Amino acid sequence: MTFDQILTASAALHDHLCPRQVLGARIGVLAGRILALDLPREDKRLLTIVESDGCAVDGISAATGCRIGKRTLRVEDYGKVAATFVDTLTERSIRIAPHPRARETAAIYAPEATDRWHAQLLGYQRMPDEKLLVWRAVVLTATVSSIVSQPGRRAICQRCEEEISNEREVYLGSTLLCRACAGPAYYRSLPDSGLPDGKRLSQSSDNLDPAHLH
Ligand SMILES: [Zn+2]
Ligand SMILES: [Zn+2]
Repeated sequence: MTFDQILTASAALHDHLCPRQVLGARIGVLAGRILALDLPREDKRLLTIVESDGCAVDGISAATGCRIGKRTLRVEDYGKVAATFVDTLTERSIRIAPHPRARETAAIYAPEATDRWHAQLLGYQRMPDEKLLVWRAVVLTATVSSIVSQPGRRAICQRCEEEISNEREVYLGSTLLCRACAGPAYYRSLPDSGLPDGKRLSQSSDNLDPAHLH
């Protein structure tokens, strides 16, 4: 895949091309080069952990073939355009982020651009890696096998009775819970939330105060 083909694929996910997609695509391409992996991949050998959602992720996805639905892309939302790429065969990992001065440098590589947005759009395509990006080898603080888990691993939360995949259950004492019931969850059920046919939703998905378990 040429870089232009990657950008076309990214723009198709995004309905336009923007500087952050170019940045994401460059990050993904560099990851493949450093890890010596052919990209984009059809298989699950490369695991990508992105540090925000948004435009750059479409570029990273187009370049690497990693997708959330394929379980090869995860979001650790630090609000950063940065990503870590893990060769799950060797566990070699590299974290790549934009160079702190990439925005300013872009203008030098796109003298014809009439505004900063176009300077970044073009400059990010032309800048050498070391002017655009910074990267370093890292090790994950969780094992790849615990992140990826095994197909078919399922548990049932003892409180809300919802099914939990990929070993994401937690134990409070001997009670097996989903992370929402173990809390804190990202949502709280409303007491009077009703279904369209008038049935009440179960209250059981309300967050459980762990203190009440013992
Ligand atoms: Zn965009
Ligand atoms: Zn639960």
